[in-house]
Amino acid sequence: MLASHNAHKIKELKQLLKDVNVDIVTLADLSDTEEVNESGSSFKENALIKARHYYQKYQMPVLADDSGLCVNALSGGPGVHSKRFSSGNDYDHNIKLINLLRQAKDRHAAFVTVIVFYLNDDEIRHFEGLVEGTISQMVVSQEGFGYDPVFIPNGYAKTFYELGSDVKNQMSHRALALKQVLEYLYENLNYK
Ligand code: IMP
Repeated sequence: MLASHNAHKIKELKQLLKDVNVDIVTLADLSDTEEVNESGSSFKENALIKARHYYQKYQMPVLADDSGLCVNALSGGPGVHSKRFSSGNDYDHNIKLINLLRQAKDRHAAFVTVIVFYLNDDEIRHFEGLVEGTISQMVVSQEGFGYDPVFIPNGYAKTFYELGSDVKNQMSHRALALKQVLEYLYENLNYK
């Protein structure tokens, strides 16, 4: 089971797992709208809370993830609070971030994803994907997912938003973590 409602994440995972002989069930498929309290202080803790919760509920192997943006000048913040950094929407989060970094000399940041794969109570794996970059001087768009309009990955001159999803999905924190899940499936579970 993929513990997500997010159509983008579900599509990305299904695409990566298309050659693997597993059936994927999502929370959307089950019309499960329960909100799990992500009370952990790290991405790994939050992913584990979600994975364990749904394993206990459905008794099947679960993939659960937690992600966010970690900014050097904010001592790693907003981190696990990325989704609710300001009281407004994604654009408001980005404006707040740019304002906080106005005087900052260090604009380095990283997107991080931790995926927990909960096979059963004795076999729990976690995989981390990380992409480093810098925070732009301006919010390049009011559109776009999360912090994509302010995050410039290393080696590029444009934000994730401007680079587009094809480029982003090759190198994103989520894709890097998912690739490790895939390798684990191939190597350890004799799928395919
Ligand atoms: P989630 O745990 O994947 O739902 O991510 C939590 C929050 O982190 C999101 O609501 C976004 O604000 C931010 N975030 C995570 N991944 C990305 C990304 O790929 N681009 C932009 N923002 C992201």
